[in-house]
Formats: sequence, C-alpha cells, structure tokens
Amino acid sequence: MTILDCAIIGGGPAGLTAGLYTTRGGLDNVTMFEKGMPGGQIMNSSEIENYPGVIGEISGMDLMTPWPAQCQKFGLIHEMVNIVRITKEDGLFIIHKEDGTTANAHSVIIGTGSSPRRAGFAGEDEFFGRGVSTCATCDGFFYKGKEVAVIGGGDTALEEALHLAKICSKVYIVHRRDTFRSAPSTIERIKNTQNIELVLNTTPDEVYGDKMGVTGLRVKNKDGELRDIDVPGVFTFVGNDVNNQILIQEDGSFLCDMNKQGQVIVDISMATSLAGLYATGDMRIAAPKQVVSAAGDGAVAALQAITYVDKLLN
Ligand code: FAD
Ligand code: NAP
Repeated sequence: MTILDCAIIGGGPAGLTAGLYTTRGGLDNVTMFEKGMPGGQIMNSSEIENYPGVIGEISGMDLMTPWPAQCQKFGLIHEMVNIVRITKEDGLFIIHKEDGTTANAHSVIIGTGSSPRRAGFAGEDEFFGRGVSTCATCDGFFYKGKEVAVIGGGDTALEEALHLAKICSKVYIVHRRDTFRSAPSTIERIKNTQNIELVLNTTPDEVYGDKMGVTGLRVKNKDGELRDIDVPGVFTFVGNDVNNQILIQEDGSFLCDMNKQGQVIVDISMATSLAGLYATGDMRIAAPKQVVSAAGDGAVAALQAITYVDKLLN
C-alpha cells in the first residue's frame, strides 16, 4: 500500500503553493487532488491588480496558468478527482474519492476554498445558466451590446460590474444598502463609469423570462416599490460559502473543530485541532480571502506538514 507523505485537497492558490513547498521541501509522495483545472476561483476573474510584483492588467487565468507547471517540476502529482470525504483511522488519513477508491496519507492540507452563494430570489435557480450567472468572465460576452444587472455590493460585484461595463451597453448594480463593502478605489471607478446605474437600497424580487431565457428582473426598494429592469442577463455576486463538505463524517460531525460559519479553526501555523491536518486559504477562520494570503497559507502549512511527517517517520 502506497502512503502519501502529504495529500493536498484543492488546487487553488493555497493548494498549489502547498504543493510547491512540500515537494521542494523534500516530501516524497505528494498528490494534489483537484476536481477540475488547477487555479481556483480566481480563474473566473477578469482582472487582478493586487498580486505583488504583477503590474498592469492581468486576468486570473493568466496569473494562475504557470503555477501547476512550477509545482510539477518538483514532483507534485495532480489527480483530477472530486474528493467526497477525509477520515482518519489508526493514525492514517484516508482520502475518499468520488469513484469509490481511496488514497492514504500521513498528512493532509486542505484548500477547497469557497463557492458562489445563491441570493435566494424567485426564478434564480430556474434561470441559472439561462440568463442568471455567477461568472462575468465566463458569460459576459453573451450580453455584448446589451443591458445586464449585477446583484451585490462587495469587491466581486463591483469589479465584475466594471468588467461587464466594457462589454455591455449598460450595467445596473442592484444593492440592498447605500454603502458598499468594496475597496474605495473600486467604488470611485464605479462612480466614474458612465454606463453603470446604481440601484441602491433595493433587493431582487424575481427574475423572469421565457423558454429562451431571462427577459427581466423585478426589484423592490426599501419602501416596497417594485421596478422592472428589462435585462436578458443577471449576474449575482452575493458572497461565498466555504467548501467544507469533505470534513463531514458519516455521523454528521466534523473531522476537526469548525466555527459557526463552517470555517475551519486553525492556529497561526494553519494546524487544525487534528494532528497532521492543515487548513488553508478561503476556508479557514479569519481568511483575508486574497490570492496572496491563500498562497501564504499554503506555504506555512507545507512547512508544518514537512516537520510533522519527519517526526512521524524518523
Ligand atoms: P479556491 O481558489 O477557491 O480554490 C479551491 C480549489 O479547490 C478549487 O480549484 C476547487 O475546484 C477545488 N475543490 C473544491 N472542493 C474540492 C473537492 N471536494 N475535491 C477536489 N477539489 C476540490 N483575490 C485577490 O487577491 N485579488 C483579486 O483581485 C480577487 N478577485 C476575485 C474575483 C473573483 C470573481 C473572485 C470569485 C475572487 C477573487 N479574489 C481575489 C479572491 C481569491 O480568488 C480567493 O481568495 C482565492 O482564490 C482563494 O484561494 P483558495 O486556494 O483558498 O481557494
Ligand atoms: P462579500 O464581500 O461577502 O459581499 C457580498 C455582497 O452581496 C454584499 O454587498 C452583500 O450585501 C450582498 N448580499 C449578500 N447576500 C445577499 C442577498 N441574499 N441578496 C442581495 N445582496 C446580498 O462577497 P464578495 O464580494 O464575493 O467578496 C468575498 C471576499 O473576497 C471578500 O473578503 C472580498 O474582499 C474578497 N475579494 C477581494 C477582491 C480584491 O481584493 N480585489 C476581489 C473580489 C473578492 P451587504 O453589503 O449589505 O452585506
């Protein structure tokens, strides 16, 4: 039976950096289990301008493309598979794959990140993929020269609205308050963009359409007044949920300690309450939710995992 020195779950900035540091730091058998293309959620971002040392406009895809090749150079294996559960039995971690097979590991670094949340208005699920989207980079071009609506008031909503404003004739930003969570520089750019209309103190009520897709969005302001916005595309950016499902055990408990928001509790070395298990990036408590911090977490966890495995085996 092959036992991995370290299993990495998730191939975003956190997982990839953990892969780089564990392999380069001397661990022998390291596999990164990533269900899709490595790179993580930033691959869906049209522009990133706060990764240190990278000046000018760069897409998330362009930023992340070299990362897997750099790791593979030092021996990281990428297995493309969805992991359904991690358990620990007799001192060994067991990685349960979707196809029913398992892998064994002395240590595990998880970096499964987070996924876009649904806003919860009528028609959102029915029209998802047919006019309702959570990815402007993927779907924005379908609305070239047309009007679209963006729901949300955080960094993602505002940055993606700016991207859409370059493609679409007009972008309505529907936000439930009159202040934004986003960076001040981004808010300034929004205010200076001619084809963006702010629809504030307003929530989405219903998205509607026909067999072809979305034809409009009904919104409600804080006085209860309804307004119909005729758009074929609605982009929702209302936050993310932590991908912690792999930690849920058969009896419903978690493999390690979590907080009430479902984030993994770690110490400053990314160690969880279970020896040999590390959590990194967006899924951990107090995560800054940045590419650079996720990458930093991956490096910290990897250095800890190397020490842990060394002590375990020698
Ligand atoms: P993720 O990037 O979420 O990667 C997790 C990976 O794990 C994914 O590839 C996923 O497929 C995989 N995975 C999940 N579950 C499983 C499973 N069960 N089995 C196998 N694989 C699994 N940050 C910035 O610093 N600057 C920005 O400008 C910026 N812009 C952003 C724009 C958008 C649109 C979004 C959505 C985010 C942006 N962020 C930005 C935030 C940044 O993308 C995240 O903080 C960062 O990607 C988190 O990295 P991570 O490795 O923790 O997780
Ligand atoms: P977020 O900061 O949680 O913002 C979500 C937005 O959606 C908020 O404005 C919220 O309104 C609104 N919202 C939530 N639920 C809603 C609902 N049901 N209906 C209508 N509106 C709803 O999420 P995010 O923008 O995706 O950002 C997530 C994290 O990634 C943040 O930490 C962010 O800083 C980071 N990020 C950083 C960058 C960057 O550094 N450039 C880029 C993207 C993301 P309220 O404001 O009223 O709560």
